[in-house]
Amino acid sequence: MDLPKRILVGNGVIKELGSFLDNLGYQVVHIVTGPHIIKKVKKPVETILTKKGFKVNWSEINIADMKTIQYITGSINQKTDIMIGLGGGKTVDAAKLTAFNTNLPYISIPTSASHDGISSPFASIKGSGRPYSIITNSPLGIIADLDIIGNAPIRLLASGCGDLIGKVTAVKDWEIERSDKGSYFGKYAASLAHLSADIVIGEAKNIGLGTKDSVRDVVEALLSAGVAAGIAGSSRPCSGSEHLFAHALDIQGSNNGLHGEKVGLGTILMAKLHGINWENIVKALEDIHAPTKGKDIGLEDKRIVKAILQAKKIRPNRYTILGRKNLDEPAAFSLARSTNVI
Ligand SMILES: [Zn+2]
Repeated sequence: MDLPKRILVGNGVIKELGSFLDNLGYQVVHIVTGPHIIKKVKKPVETILTKKGFKVNWSEINIADMKTIQYITGSINQKTDIMIGLGGGKTVDAAKLTAFNTNLPYISIPTSASHDGISSPFASIKGSGRPYSIITNSPLGIIADLDIIGNAPIRLLASGCGDLIGKVTAVKDWEIERSDKGSYFGKYAASLAHLSADIVIGEAKNIGLGTKDSVRDVVEALLSAGVAAGIAGSSRPCSGSEHLFAHALDIQGSNNGLHGEKVGLGTILMAKLHGINWENIVKALEDIHAPTKGKDIGLEDKRIVKAILQAKKIRPNRYTILGRKNLDEPAAFSLARSTNVI
């Protein structure tokens, strides 16, 4: 099991970054940030660290692709003790993969709760030669400041919820792999991942209303999903047919929609295929104000149908309900139509 050593969740916990690093015994820090957070978060973090005598280097990035990883790797000072990903999902993923490649520990400081990469050992990087996540190490520490995350656009939080609701079908897919193929199934990791979906589904109304505790609920659920992947040592409890569908949309070259939004749509479809209560999934996504139809994020009907058909081929070793059902085009169309995704 590969798990984070320290996790801080709460309002204003960013202020504890200095003592957090002190406790871990690190002095030279390389921070990867994204373009949107510079003003609000970079300055305070810089002040906190320089006051305490840390040496800080920065890499500012726009996207998480292999070129970016090379750029960050090239700018790392040889004396660097630890890397920090300070920003949205892409920034955290880029820091995570660079840290892994250069054998450095890293800390995740998410500024939004848009997907479970903020806490998991998986990094999603463009141009890596495959459309799904790369396994790296779990973060050594996570600082989830609810004041910062609560200020992020509401759409990012809704996307994080879509990623979490996807654990319902991911776990079902893992179960059917056990029954159809006799493969290993980790009950504990599966239950933990499922729990994170249950929290979001149970709290969907409050999340949609933006109640005070709802950001904390989503952040804690994302942390628990990341930990579930760390326990399983694979993305299996967190990523099944609904993720394959989302990845199939990505390789179509579609820039429509956020990761968790596409996963949410995939979950509706795959829940129906699994014969579980897909209407309940739709209801939760609606309450959260996440998309439930392709057109909500500009995806045409034919792309949805094509993605359902392509999903199975994305990752041939990952057996899911799509492998069991082997849908043809009319069946894929009727699945999308009957769930109102198209
Ligand atoms: Zn995901």
